[in-house]
Amino acid sequence: MEFLRPGSWEEALAAKAEHPEAVPLAGGTDVMVEINFDRRRPDHLLDLNRIGDLYEWETGEDEVRLGASVPYARIMEELRAELPGLALAAHTVGSPQIRNRGSVGGNLGAASPAGDSHPPLLAAGAQVEAESVRGTRLIPAEEFYTGVKRNALAPDELIRAVRIARADGPQQFSKVGTRNAMVIAVCAFSLALHPRSRTVRTGIGSAAPTPVRARAAEDFLAAALEEGGCWESGRPVPPSAARRFAELAAGACNPIDDVRGSARYRRHAVAVMARRTLGWTWDAYRSGGRDSRCA
Ligand SMILES: Cc1cc2nc3c(=O)[nH]c(=O)nc-3n(C[C@H](O)[C@H](O)[C@H](O)COP(=O)(O)OP(=O)(O)OC[C@H]3O[C@@H](n4cnc5c(N)ncnc54)[C@H](O)[C@@H]3O)c2cc1C
Repeated sequence: MEFLRPGSWEEALAAKAEHPEAVPLAGGTDVMVEINFDRRRPDHLLDLNRIGDLYEWETGEDEVRLGASVPYARIMEELRAELPGLALAAHTVGSPQIRNRGSVGGNLGAASPAGDSHPPLLAAGAQVEAESVRGTRLIPAEEFYTGVKRNALAPDELIRAVRIARADGPQQFSKVGTRNAMVIAVCAFSLALHPRSRTVRTGIGSAAPTPVRARAAEDFLAAALEEGGCWESGRPVPPSAARRFAELAAGACNPIDDVRGSARYRRHAVAVMARRTLGWTWDAYRSGGRDSRCA
């Protein structure tokens, strides 16, 4: 196995162009497990750890440009106000060791339907900044996941950053697992309220072959909030609307039965998480602040 260690982003792109089959290595928390268990033996490993830019972020007026290798621990600690949904999800990833190494770029590269960053990226309206020697393109998160552990990157492309809208309202993330830590999601749900555009967005993890949005649920809830004058008055979401939102969220799932849970359980759990996250985010909106509870 040849170990490629580019010292700059340009060198990394050139190496990927020359060896499109090379496997990028960021935190290594997915890649090294596969190599150690002999599930993967690539001819070339492309180590991105010397590229400092990938560990930085820029905060603009409307968005955060998050370097692909920024570890979860820093997102939790330093980007909670700008990216509350992602920060809550980061909190639930693996253990402190994994959160110190693992990154959103790596989660996107692996594209597991159970990856914890995907639901909040979908709910916040993130775009993946993919780059190759041919140029840069922005891929909306909902177009990035193309199948189980498959993504929209071309063989010569690398993820440079993820552009995520700064929160303009409360966001939540909820994950069901068999225990409280070090657990792959049985299913997960994220909700973001966007008061500026009077829209809501969702993301569902581990309940379909790819992470998905519950678009019918989003449209229904946005219309119900608008019709009820709820954005101006802050009055509670009617229980019947919350129930319908939850049903529609469950309807967006296309889960399987597996060792972690049955399809039926996953649908039920997504409905429960949708109703709960709606309650938490709406309470936070009404009280004018941001809530950071997580389940
Ligand atoms: C014990 C343990 C617990 C875990 N718990 C969780 C959990 O709770 N939730 C969760 O979501 N995940 C979990 N994971 C999986 C893993 O930690 C995450 O997927 C993490 O985000 C991977 O990030 P990384 O930087 O370590 O990626 P790496 O392992 O370095 O790479 C992962 C994939 O992304 C590709 N890649 C990396 N960087 C780039 C780039 N810039 N451009 C293109 N492709 C790239 C790699 O080639 C590889 O295919 C766990 C893993 C372990 C070992």
